[in-house]
Amino acid sequence: MQEESLNGFTGFARKNQPQFQYSRDQEAAQVAAEIAFEDASLAAIPAWDRRWAWLEINLEAIAHNVVEAKRFLRPGVKLMAVVKADGYGHGAVACAQKALGAGADQLGVATVDEALALREAGITAPILILSEPPITAVPLLLAKHITPSVYTAEFALAYAEEADRHNMKAPFHLALNTGMNRIGVRAEDVIAFEQQVNFHRALVQEGTFTHFATADSTDTIDFNSQVRRFINAISALRTAGVDPGVVHAANSAALFRYPDVQFDMARLGIAMYGCHPCEQTRGLADLWPAMEVKARITDVKTVPMSEGVSYGLRYRSPGSVKICTVPLGYADGLSRALSGKWDFILGGQLVRQVGTICMDQCMFEVDMRSFGSRVRLDPQVGDVVTIVGREGEAMTTLTEMARTIGTIDYEVACNFSRRMPRVYK
Ligand SMILES: *Cc1c(COP(=O)(O)O)cnc(C)c1O
Repeated sequence: MQEESLNGFTGFARKNQPQFQYSRDQEAAQVAAEIAFEDASLAAIPAWDRRWAWLEINLEAIAHNVVEAKRFLRPGVKLMAVVKADGYGHGAVACAQKALGAGADQLGVATVDEALALREAGITAPILILSEPPITAVPLLLAKHITPSVYTAEFALAYAEEADRHNMKAPFHLALNTGMNRIGVRAEDVIAFEQQVNFHRALVQEGTFTHFATADSTDTIDFNSQVRRFINAISALRTAGVDPGVVHAANSAALFRYPDVQFDMARLGIAMYGCHPCEQTRGLADLWPAMEVKARITDVKTVPMSEGVSYGLRYRSPGSVKICTVPLGYADGLSRALSGKWDFILGGQLVRQVGTICMDQCMFEVDMRSFGSRVRLDPQVGDVVTIVGREGEAMTTLTEMARTIGTIDYEVACNFSRRMPRVYK
């Protein structure tokens, strides 16, 4: 059979030559590299010098926002710092430690693994999982002192049985559904639920809570109806001789807007990271954004007029611009839906992101014409670009970014992926 070269590939022609030669060379080269570069010196190259895109997390802002929230709490009311979804993308461990240091009493997470990560980091504060985990995870809860939310009798009894087998207690917070219809025992069924489980000696009801669907809305009818149902359920428990433990309902929006629904504890999420849960809280609380998104320019070029840029060539160069590239894309959480709709900041000036945002990179344009009093920029490879944050007078926020693509800052923040190193300040 005739062997043809495929695009210049002639590997088959070496068929009868010894094959081990190649792997021996590889091995020798590997050994040489290990001698030339010590592990310690390789490990000393920081994450932001391994990739020129990163998140800057200002932990002082986290501490400030916790203190600011506490200013709104009535005396004796506790504060839970909600660090689910890796601290809304800010890094759960660092944010949890900072929040606890600033006066938070407990932590809230969404999953068992999120709780385990906090325990593995040496955090000993109480941790509540804000939903009911699978029964199969019960041993982990008991072993690591992680408190579940509970709303099914099956879970409560399995949890209690396992605790009893180890001479332990089974602390839990009862989740009540007062109208959001996400999770929880329906408020009017709370006594029936207690009757199913309260014979079990291991169970300890450490808390009772609900979650609001409309605490951030201008309309208060539904909110008030949830509050009423919650208060009625708590009274019913007390009348039946059940201690509801720590009673809590408020999220960030409710914490600032409705001081009379703080009960025994408030759960601080988005506001701890410096985003306002709604327009109404802007005038009330002074929150500092904790996340900035930064990158360094990896490529600068002049693109001749009318040549296109990026997939689909949807943007065409007007000729008077330089096109710069930064190494972050939608796999890092910079939504592709922002393509051509977002401004970065370079040298204190807003510069337009242009062309389709790729998976790992995207481009922006720098206008090279002189006009007015504007300082003409001279972009260079290695210059720092602010994707979200402040530089001098220029500022962009997660909230604006969310609005641009029709979502909320919660989603934008937690979408910044693990591929982006977090740098703590
Ligand atoms: C996420 C969450 C919170 C925090 O809400 P924010 O609006 O971010 O303050 C509070 N409680 C529960 C049950 C949650 O799931």
